Amino acid sequence: ATPTALMVATGRGAELGIFVKGYRALETTRAVDTVLLDKTGTLTEGRMTVVDLTCADGVEADELLAMAAAVESGSEHAIAAAIREHAANALVAVPEVTGFRALPGLGARGVVDGREVTVGRPSLAGDLGASAERVGVWDATGHSTVAVVVDGTVAGVIALADPVKPSAAPAVAELLATGLRPVLLTGDGEAAARSVAAAVGIEQVRAGVLPDEKVDFVRGLQSGGATVAMVGDGVNDAAALATADLGIAVGSGTDVALEAADVVLVRDDLRVLPNTVELARATLRTVR
Ligand code: ADP
Ligand code: MG
Repeated sequence: ATPTALMVATGRGAELGIFVKGYRALETTRAVDTVLLDKTGTLTEGRMTVVDLTCADGVEADELLAMAAAVESGSEHAIAAAIREHAANALVAVPEVTGFRALPGLGARGVVDGREVTVGRPSLAGDLGASAERVGVWDATGHSTVAVVVDGTVAGVIALADPVKPSAAPAVAELLATGLRPVLLTGDGEAAARSVAAAVGIEQVRAGVLPDEKVDFVRGLQSGGATVAMVGDGVNDAAALATADLGIAVGSGTDVALEAADVVLVRDDLRVLPNTVELARATLRTVR
């Protein structure tokens, strides 16, 4: 693309609510055929709420919530915000956490009242014991679940809901109509992923992927001949956004994601996705 074409694209992008960060974006979007979409915060609002919690024998709900909220006080994740809010609403006193550590794509960990507490994907807990049954129930309803592990033992499980963005299903329908293949890519569990995929009309799902595995997935598609756009918002998406032929960040996303992307959806409306790809195509048609 020439500088003039880039200026045209930038102007048209501004009308659509797309911020075109650079030049590379326009050169590479030409043959995009596959669009990977992150789930949490991209297809969904990323505003999670706690819908239920189950405690292991001998653990009180307030105690579980206090420990979980303490650890999550150090995390930026939507799950963390939901757990903190739930604790605040329940007027639970949240203790201090020391030695906080984010486990990207897995959960969060820290020491609370002398005990090591981990909140994260249920697979972090080798043996979910009695809680496994509840996880199964929530899985069936499409909720996200996290386990609270205290000194190596599951103290409880928390279920969360996250509404799908109203613009997600229309956006997917349009991607399909323009011949693009949408794939849902998420660190969350299979059941929660399937439920969102069904709600928005995506058939292909990759769940339980770690941030590095998101990158591997992009590379795998590319070496199979696909030209890949990736849409994401999180720290966990940044590497995949940079690896994709076209990285698209949701405007409300984290700074790291915005930096890694080529294009930013300023208005957080997914219906501009087909336009984002089309904009670059049109620009190049004009130039060639
Ligand atoms: P996504 O790809 O859906 O944005 P992430 O890669 O951020 O998801 O996280 C994947 C999974 O890891 C989450 O579904 C959750 O089970 C767990 N997880 C990550 N961060 C946290 C956290 N701060 N607290 C609890 N669980 C977490
Ligand atoms: Mg996300």
